[in-house]
Amino acid sequence: MKAFTYVNAANEKEAIAALQSAERGKMLPMAGGMDLLGLMKDYIVSPDRVVSIKGLDQTIAASDGGLKIGAAVKIADLAEHAAARKMFPALVTAAEGVGTPQIRNMGTVGGNIMQRPRCWYFRNEEFNCLKKGGSRCYAVEGENQFHAIFGDGPCHIVHPSSLAVPVIAYGGKFRVAGPNGAREIDAGEFFQLPNANLYGENVLQPNEIITHVILPAPGPSTALGASQRSASYEVRFKQSHDWPLASASVNLVMAGPTVKSARIVMGAVAPIPWRVQAAERVLAGKAITDAIATEAANAAVAGARPMSGNKYKIQIAKTAVKRAILAATRV
Ligand SMILES: Cc1cc2nc3c(=O)[nH]c(=O)nc-3n(C[C@H](O)[C@H](O)[C@H](O)COP(=O)(O)OP(=O)(O)OC[C@H]3O[C@@H](n4cnc5c(N)ncnc54)[C@H](O)[C@@H]3O)c2cc1C
Repeated sequence: MKAFTYVNAANEKEAIAALQSAERGKMLPMAGGMDLLGLMKDYIVSPDRVVSIKGLDQTIAASDGGLKIGAAVKIADLAEHAAARKMFPALVTAAEGVGTPQIRNMGTVGGNIMQRPRCWYFRNEEFNCLKKGGSRCYAVEGENQFHAIFGDGPCHIVHPSSLAVPVIAYGGKFRVAGPNGAREIDAGEFFQLPNANLYGENVLQPNEIITHVILPAPGPSTALGASQRSASYEVRFKQSHDWPLASASVNLVMAGPTVKSARIVMGAVAPIPWRVQAAERVLAGKAITDAIATEAANAAVAGARPMSGNKYKIQIAKTAVKRAILAATRV
C-alpha cells in the first residue's frame, strides 16, 4: 500500500477542510474503511491523504414526516431502528441483508452507498480495464456471470449498494457537502452510467461527501406508512457474506386495494440502481394479484441484454421483482 497521511475529522466542517484537493482521488474519505482499505491494498486507489469521516452525523432523526439518516450511521443501527422499520421496511430489509453482522457493525450508510463496484477485473490490479484507463472491458469476453444485464456498457459493472436501491424507490435524496457548500440531490439522479462517467459512478464532485440520506414522509394521510406499501427482495448465491445476484425494491402508494403509483428499482443488474418505469406502469391503477405481479416482473426485465455467462440473472431479477411486489402488499 502506498504511504499516506491520515486525518481524523471530528465533524463535517473538519472533513471538508481536510479533503480539499484539485486532483480527483488524491484525498479520500474513509468511513468504516472496509471497502477503501481493500482498494488501497490492491493499488486500485492510492490517495495521499485519508480523512476519517466517522465524526459525521451518526443519528437517525425525524424530518418533515420522513427520516434524515446521518452518513456515519452504522448499517446495523439502521437495521435495528424502530421508526425506520415502520416507515421504510424496504430499506431496513436491505440493511439486514448486507454481508454479515460484523460488516453491518463496521459499515456505514454513506460508505455503503459510495462503495466501489465489485467487478473482479476492476478490483484486480493486473487488469488495466476501461474503468482504470485501459482500452477494454474484460468482462465482455471473459468471466461475466455476475455482470450487468442492463446498461449497454461500455463497462459492465453492477452497482453494489443494497441500500441505494430502496432509497431510490422511496424517492429519497442525498445531502452532500463540499467546499462550495451543501446541496441535496435526488437519489435517482445521483448515480451515473459508464457512458456518462467511466471513472466514477456518481455526480459527486472530487471534494464532496454525502452527509445524510433524506427519506420523504411515507404519504399524506398515512400514520407511519398506512397507505404506502413497500418491500425489498434479494436473491443471493449464498445466504450471507456476499452481495445479491439481483434485488428489487418496490414502493406502492395505495388507494384502498388499488395501486395509485409505484416505484420499482432493481439492484445488481446494471451499473446503477435500475428503475423500471415500464413495470411501474403495469401496476398503476390495478389491484395486486399474482398475475399482475408476474406481468410487472416480465416488463421489468423486458429490455435485458445479457452477456455470455449471465443470462440466468434475467429469471432471478424477474423473481426478485415479483416477490418484492407481493411482499409489499403483505406489509
Ligand atoms: C464480504 C462482504 C459482503 C458484503 N455484502 C454486501 C451486501 O450484501 N450489500 C451491500 O450493499 N454491501 C455489502 N458489502 C459492502 C459493505 O457494506 C461495504 O463495504 C461497506 O458498506 C462500506 O462501508 P464503509 O463504511 O466501510 O465504507 P468505506 O470503505 O470507508 O468507504 C467506501 C467508499 O466510499 C467512500 N466514502 C465513504 N463514506 C463516504 C461519504 N459519506 N461520502 C462520500 N464518499 C464516502 C470512500 O472514500 C470509499 O471509496 C459487503 C462487504 C463485504 C466485505
